[in-house]
Amino acid sequence: MRQIAVIGAGITGITTAYALNEKGYDVTVIDRQRYAAMETSFANGGQLSASNAEVWNSWSTVLKGIKWMFTPDAPLLMNPLPSWHKYSWMAEFLANIPNYKANTVETTRLAIQARNYMFEIAARENIDFNHVTRGILHIYRDKVGYDAAAKVSELYAEGGLERRPVTPSEIRAIEPTLHGSYYGGFFTPSDSTGDIHKFTRGLADACRRKGVRFINEASVDSVTHTGKGQAGTGVEIALTIVPDAEDARPVRETLAFDGVVVCAGVGSRALAAQLGDRVNVYPVKGYSITVMLDDEQSQAGAPWVSLLDDQTKIVTSRLGKDRFRVAGTAEFNGENRDIRADRIRPLTDWVRKLFPDVNTDRAVPWAGLRPMMPDLMPRVAAGAKPGVFYNTGHGHLGWTLSCATAQIIAGTVASAMPVETPRPALRIAAE
Ligand SMILES: Cc1cc2nc3c(=O)[nH]c(=O)nc-3n(C[C@H](O)[C@H](O)[C@H](O)COP(=O)(O)OP(=O)(O)OC[C@H]3O[C@@H](n4cnc5c(N)ncnc54)[C@H](O)[C@@H]3O)c2cc1C
Repeated sequence: MRQIAVIGAGITGITTAYALNEKGYDVTVIDRQRYAAMETSFANGGQLSASNAEVWNSWSTVLKGIKWMFTPDAPLLMNPLPSWHKYSWMAEFLANIPNYKANTVETTRLAIQARNYMFEIAARENIDFNHVTRGILHIYRDKVGYDAAAKVSELYAEGGLERRPVTPSEIRAIEPTLHGSYYGGFFTPSDSTGDIHKFTRGLADACRRKGVRFINEASVDSVTHTGKGQAGTGVEIALTIVPDAEDARPVRETLAFDGVVVCAGVGSRALAAQLGDRVNVYPVKGYSITVMLDDEQSQAGAPWVSLLDDQTKIVTSRLGKDRFRVAGTAEFNGENRDIRADRIRPLTDWVRKLFPDVNTDRAVPWAGLRPMMPDLMPRVAAGAKPGVFYNTGHGHLGWTLSCATAQIIAGTVASAMPVETPRPALRIAAE
């Protein structure tokens, strides 16, 4: 049986492993963390949102970004110190502005496709991930923002998504706990929310039951294409396994596989470079708080309908009766995972203002790095060398898109290196 390594046990890696296992491959997942979903797939905004499929490559985003750079508490923060990676990424981001419409429509299609796979898998594998199917409501405080969103709705409609405009009184009816005054909104009943960490862990358990191997606490130091396999496939992966015991020494190992799928989030760029590919993922940091709804007043005062507040770029998800997730911020500051108090505070303040009945005395802060491509489109393709594949770079929408991209990459692997190696034709010697 063909042996495939999947590097990364976040949402993209685990959905990929599951899809490859279904196709009959012998799959091994490698991750530097002890458990699945411990990096960016840990505590994100929770939205399964085709209604957030708009790519960021537009002049209006650029102009807003410049304004936000000089505004404290703004949704965007950029460390202006020069870095070749950051500025070359930004140049590519600008170069992709002409692709804004096509990429937004394509992302919408992908997001709709992903839903069907995800709900089917969750039901089949009996995964409880606090899935809430009450739709996503986008809210706008002024006419300018609302009118711009109406144009985006046209692109979403091209991609097959229906989202309807709603008046301020409809906003109140859709989510009665929401305070504040709004110009209008857009509601997408078919969108939903859920806990990415619980889903990924549940799916990792399902993979294990089906025979997928996991090598955890193993950092991939290098990936080398050997070409020793059939039709020039074959890779060697050098690992450092850090054992549990404090006094134990790290173990170095090199393992051989027929192929590899790189799903390493913000680590994908470095691994791709070793394989001769350019996957220009930049780490765009975001923050979340998970507000523990310990008392009845907080539980009644927190929304069940998921929100996206356009002005602050804050998103929310209700994760069951007693947890409320609030996320936002795009920070361009390299591979820096610090949780900054001054970036967490706007999230807590937002909850206090819009949901005053919610007690925020127990809010768990978190920061994660979105693996962002400059065109905001995930890289779901074969690499330059046989047996090398990528399913990575999902940026702000990895939770929404992964179940679709996993199917796509598993299909790509299956056509490039079929599970069953075709047997050489039998030669019958002439008598
Ligand atoms: C604040 C915030 C809010 C968000 N909100 C939403 C949302 O509402 N909806 C949505 O759809 N998306 C959202 N996202 C985006 C989504 O969370 C990400 O796109 C997704 O989690 C990325 O998954 P991944 O598998 O690519 O990366 P990860 O989850 O980071 O997984 C990559 C894995 O690779 C491993 N790895 C990397 N390098 C190596 C190496 N050298 N050796 C071994 N292991 C390695 C890491 O340990 C990690 O486990 C949000 C992101 C953030 C930060």
